[in-house]
Amino acid sequence: MSTGIKTKAYAAAAAGSELKPFEIQRREPGPHDVLIKIKFCGICHSDVHQAKDEWGGAIFPMVPGHEIAGIVERVGDQVTKFKAGDRVGVGCMVDSCKKCDSCNAGLEQYCEKGNVQTYNALALDGKTPNLGGYSEQITVLERFVVRIPDNIPLDKAAPLLCAGITTYSPLKHWKAGPGKDVAVVGLGGLGHVAVKIAHAMGANVTVISRSLGKKKDAEAMGATGYVATSDQASADKAVSSFDLIINTVSSAADMNTYLNMLKLDGVMVLVGAPAEPLPVNAFSIIPKRRSLAGSTIGGLPETQEMLDFCGEHNLTADIEVIPIEIVNEAYERLLKSDVRYRFVIDIESLNN
Ligand code: NAP
Ligand code: ZN
Ligand code: ZN
Repeated sequence: MSTGIKTKAYAAAAAGSELKPFEIQRREPGPHDVLIKIKFCGICHSDVHQAKDEWGGAIFPMVPGHEIAGIVERVGDQVTKFKAGDRVGVGCMVDSCKKCDSCNAGLEQYCEKGNVQTYNALALDGKTPNLGGYSEQITVLERFVVRIPDNIPLDKAAPLLCAGITTYSPLKHWKAGPGKDVAVVGLGGLGHVAVKIAHAMGANVTVISRSLGKKKDAEAMGATGYVATSDQASADKAVSSFDLIINTVSSAADMNTYLNMLKLDGVMVLVGAPAEPLPVNAFSIIPKRRSLAGSTIGGLPETQEMLDFCGEHNLTADIEVIPIEIVNEAYERLLKSDVRYRFVIDIESLNN
């Protein structure tokens, strides 16, 4: 193995196996690299999907984690945007071709060659496995590092690096704002941040959850409407009510129920990524010229814009900070939606 910086981490050895302590090597920063001391890393539902290889083709051993917040330790000699001591974040991508039209437009997430993910992906050399944020340090190209505003604590900022940008990008693209009726399906990690961002953008926000259990929390986050799909009457009342629905559901659910809640020309954007195909009835979209769309994370300029927006609005994630020793338990609880609303690993606990 090439020499590098020895780093403590947690890894899954194979699909579905428990995460355990694991030592990895980070590369010495090259001219355009930033070496980051990771302080906190959020647990995204995508970590669980991938550690269990639900989407197929996963690379093991896997160090998950793409909601990374930390402090710059060292930078390469060509780095201009960052210096030691800066508060920074890294999200779901650490590289892309940097040459195609999408990359040139700052839409690296839609790189024509495919963006290079923070973990469960090979680096551009085609052979080095990328390893994620459940670790003490990471070396990342300057272009893929963003600045965290001073008023956002690092633990509460971490989830913004995936949950924040994944919901900000479609909310902005489909013009959430004053006069728009926006619904968010699933009040989990992505969903709760989506509610706060849509509210801060000035939209009228409704939460569509399975039960009534999260109603008070939803209101505290800025939602003025609440639909519990377990309550048929409240679901019926919501038919043809929304201009835009951000759907964060993580496992197979009946999309027709949600599509029927769109107004004329309404759009439902899937950001949730269940492994199973989702049946859609043609008559859920035809009669009201509705659209079903998808969206993935966001490019680097937009990720910085989202963080600055959150800074201006004092908008942070609601988190439960955990030591890394209980990460496997946290995965189990996440699968039961038993978290208010994002687990964040205190990376210092790798030294316990
Ligand atoms: P999460 O915290 O587990 O939240 C998902 C929420 O979906 C749950 O809290 C629950 O909300 C609802 N839900 C779960 N199963 C459901 C079912 N069968 N029927 C109806 N509702 C259900 O997960 P997350 O971290 O927010 O991630 C959500 C999804 O987005 C995952 O699939 C993840 O992989 C994906 N994702 C995609 C991108 C992207 O770029 N597109 C980025 C990040 C994550 P209630 O309890 O309120 O019903
Ligand atoms: Zn994620
Ligand atoms: Zn590209």
